[in-house]
Amino acid sequence: MRFASLGSGSRGNGTVISSDDTHLLLDCGFGYQETVKRLARLGLEPDMLSAVVVTHEHSDHWGGVESLASRHTIPVYATRGTWIEVAGHRLAHTHEVRGAFEVGSLSITPVTVPHDAREPIQCVFEVSGKRLGVLSDLGSVSAHVLSAFTELDALSVEFNHDWTLLHEGPYPSFLKKRVGGDYGHLNNEQARDLVAAVASERLQTVVACHVSETNNEVSRVEAALEQALAGHNAERRVASQSEGMEWITVGSR
Ligand SMILES: [Zn+2]
Ligand SMILES: [Zn+2]
Repeated sequence: MRFASLGSGSRGNGTVISSDDTHLLLDCGFGYQETVKRLARLGLEPDMLSAVVVTHEHSDHWGGVESLASRHTIPVYATRGTWIEVAGHRLAHTHEVRGAFEVGSLSITPVTVPHDAREPIQCVFEVSGKRLGVLSDLGSVSAHVLSAFTELDALSVEFNHDWTLLHEGPYPSFLKKRVGGDYGHLNNEQARDLVAAVASERLQTVVACHVSETNNEVSRVEAALEQALAGHNAERRVASQSEGMEWITVGSR
């Protein structure tokens, strides 16, 4: 299994998880042309996608799903709450996520997270015993999340904002409250503590994702990652809004 990012942040998210000839796109927050261009960077074309899984209805995750999936007849998976929020869509092949499911050779376990959408999930992917966790949008770390994201070989997790930069920054106060709240996004310290809590001996890769361009700095994210992984030799990466992240093979060492 390997994974890569089309781009990550409040202006659009997309993660590709691949195993053999199964290519799953997790969220698509980019317009059609932009998605095609970003897929091409990873050596993919839309017709190669086996499925799109949507974690929740926010436009940075859902915004590009309809045009991509309807043009290329790609099945789309989401929870009932997400389907309710995007009612009126013109997709032909939809599936309701109720529990663990499979797409080709990938097993997907949805995990309910505290985030201000109707029925948001994040996911653990598994192939032949290798496990990848993707955790892009959550406002706080629940016991449920901690128990689901265990024994991972790779983890992509949001380091959304620096608490001080958010509170001293340009966002209006309602947005500071939303982003910093328990159903908003993780700050660097929360993400650091989460990584430290789930990091086991087998964890080889941690990718920081959904990093705010306004309320965070890569150097602060890297410092938090270093603290979280002190004593571990897991590789650390930061996925960006413009470039995303190149392919990483899960559990290759
Ligand atoms: Zn969201
Ligand atoms: Zn988001």
